[in-house]
Amino acid sequence: MMLDLLGGFGEKGRTSLAVNDGGDRILLDIGIKVGASGAEYYPALDGPVDDIDALFVSHAHEDHIGALSWLLSRGYAGPIFMTAETRDEAAPTLAAYADPGDFRRFPIPDGRIELFEPGDTLKSGNLTIETGRSGHVAGGVWFCVDDGKSRAVYTADVVPDSNVFVMDTIPHCDLLVFDASYGADPVPGAARAREISEWVARHPRGCLLPTPLSGRSLELIAALPGPFAIHAGMRPSLAAQIGATAALLPGVPEHLRARLASAADWADAEPLPSLPLLADDGMGEAGPSSRLLPRADAAGFPVLLTGHLPAGSPADLLHRAGRADWVRMPTHPTLSGNVEIWEKAGRPEALGHSCAIDLLEGLKSHIPSLRTQCRTGQRIMVPQGSK
Ligand SMILES: [Zn+2]
Repeated sequence: MMLDLLGGFGEKGRTSLAVNDGGDRILLDIGIKVGASGAEYYPALDGPVDDIDALFVSHAHEDHIGALSWLLSRGYAGPIFMTAETRDEAAPTLAAYADPGDFRRFPIPDGRIELFEPGDTLKSGNLTIETGRSGHVAGGVWFCVDDGKSRAVYTADVVPDSNVFVMDTIPHCDLLVFDASYGADPVPGAARAREISEWVARHPRGCLLPTPLSGRSLELIAALPGPFAIHAGMRPSLAAQIGATAALLPGVPEHLRARLASAADWADAEPLPSLPLLADDGMGEAGPSSRLLPRADAAGFPVLLTGHLPAGSPADLLHRAGRADWVRMPTHPTLSGNVEIWEKAGRPEALGHSCAIDLLEGLKSHIPSLRTQCRTGQRIMVPQGSK
């Protein structure tokens, strides 16, 4: 079995892999890269796409699904496997990040969407694809691909120590492609959540918290110390995410439902609130936060950024200028989480995705089988299994 690294290796964004056993060829994820332009915006998938038997999408964040319209525009005509939550979020993500012409001409082909539940085992030709809950977003999954000789796991985005979501254990495998977004960051989620709560408490006259609509928003709601407001447009999605109770830790749905019920709705025409205000997205590229970030900046309204800041994004520019603070709310594994994933997978050979090269080097001393030289565009052999 071979992997073609199509995006997200030695870089953050446009995450995509092809798995090939000589007969069957499947794609895992098809993301875009915020901050890139031209061909670099899309996966390095040159040539025809008619040999791709199936596409599997882990979740609806732009760096995992944003190139779907582009893939369809290239002629991809096969099935698209995703969960119902991913399907529901796919169109808004593509509306924000796909080429508008592609998105209009190549809408999501409902008849080719193959819905599955996290935990289901799927088939494509001779390949068996196990799935499990990612702990990253409601309806998000990891994939384990088995061709009968060897097994490769692609974790996509996972959170082993989420305060709200459940992550299923990654199975034993011969090659592990894991979420290295944070390199060797040792600070666990609970400590970061406390730090965010304290920052918010120090800004009692209101502040802006840009956040992706799915996943991190629930982590922030769980972490906030008191009353808060949300951009009114977020409420249906947040309610739907909290309604996906199978993705959440015990007791969390009730707690988050009560928190959301007490949250104030805020709309664009209103003055900035004297409350912490959540607005999507997390980097000021799209959605209400693309309008709110400049407005907050002009008004001296404090801004706390909590996620990845693509170079050149509005959030990144504000942070570099010293006019926005940043505390990571982990929505990817920190160091102990990734070491544990690797150990439970049987200490296999490993590749890290969604990680800049210098950060990957920092992980090597903790995960000795990590292949730090792997880059987008390369082909990797999956070691033959010992099972
Ligand atoms: Zn994600």
